[in-house]
Amino acid sequence: MTDFVEEKDCLLCGKIVPAEREAFRASLDRMPLDEPVCDACLVAFWRNLGLPVSDTDEPEPTPH
Ligand SMILES: [Zn+2]
Repeated sequence: MTDFVEEKDCLLCGKIVPAEREAFRASLDRMPLDEPVCDACLVAFWRNLGLPVSDTDEPEPTPH
């Protein structure tokens, strides 16, 4: 299973500046398996696949 990590430790967005992460996730169309990715990237990936994902059900553990 994919582990959930904080954004700074995320394989996908961890090296991207926060201002660009949202745009990056909007184009996210692949998800590495068995790699540390943050919850936000995983949800964005699901959404890009067309799966129904509710924002209100997602906790926000890392306020900015
Ligand atoms: Zn991420």
